[in-house]
Amino acid sequence: MRNFFKTFFLWELLKGLKQTGGHLFKKKITVQYPDEKTPLSPRFRGLHALRRYENGEERCIACKLCEAVCPALAITIEAEPREDGSRRTTKYEIDLFKCIFCGFCEESCPVDSIVETRVLEYHFEHRGQNIITKAKLLEMGQWQEEDIAKMRAQDKTYK
Ligand code: SF4
Ligand code: SF4
Repeated sequence: MRNFFKTFFLWELLKGLKQTGGHLFKKKITVQYPDEKTPLSPRFRGLHALRRYENGEERCIACKLCEAVCPALAITIEAEPREDGSRRTTKYEIDLFKCIFCGFCEESCPVDSIVETRVLEYHFEHRGQNIITKAKLLEMGQWQEEDIAKMRAQDKTYK
């Protein structure tokens, strides 16, 4: 009999509406992404970038420390000496399918060349786009330099 009346008066529906009504005038906690964004932690690690010095010279000296320290074996570097005797990479690639964004590469770099930016919005549409080439990394460095420099200035642990 009890169940009959509950079904007859749509009791479960009313219970659900009561729950919805209770939240109707509460402060909204959702944000209208991508127009609105939630704050990022200062320690957030996003897409990688290779930096240059102010004179345009690449910072990376091809020491391969980042490649050695990477636990996911995501970094591939090939290098050879230039005519002036300095070492520079001829190939620097990061496989984003392997990368776990641990930040070890960034921490190991003696010249603050490879860094992780705060860029988190990216996608792949074609096979192979998960491999981020040196050209793309340098381009990202150029695009994000201002933000990277600002973060470095705030965090005194960086050289
Ligand atoms: S963030 Fe970690 S996993 Fe990704 S490339 Fe750097 S060292 Fe490798
Ligand atoms: S990015 Fe830094 S750690 Fe990696 S090879 Fe270049 S200089 Fe060495």
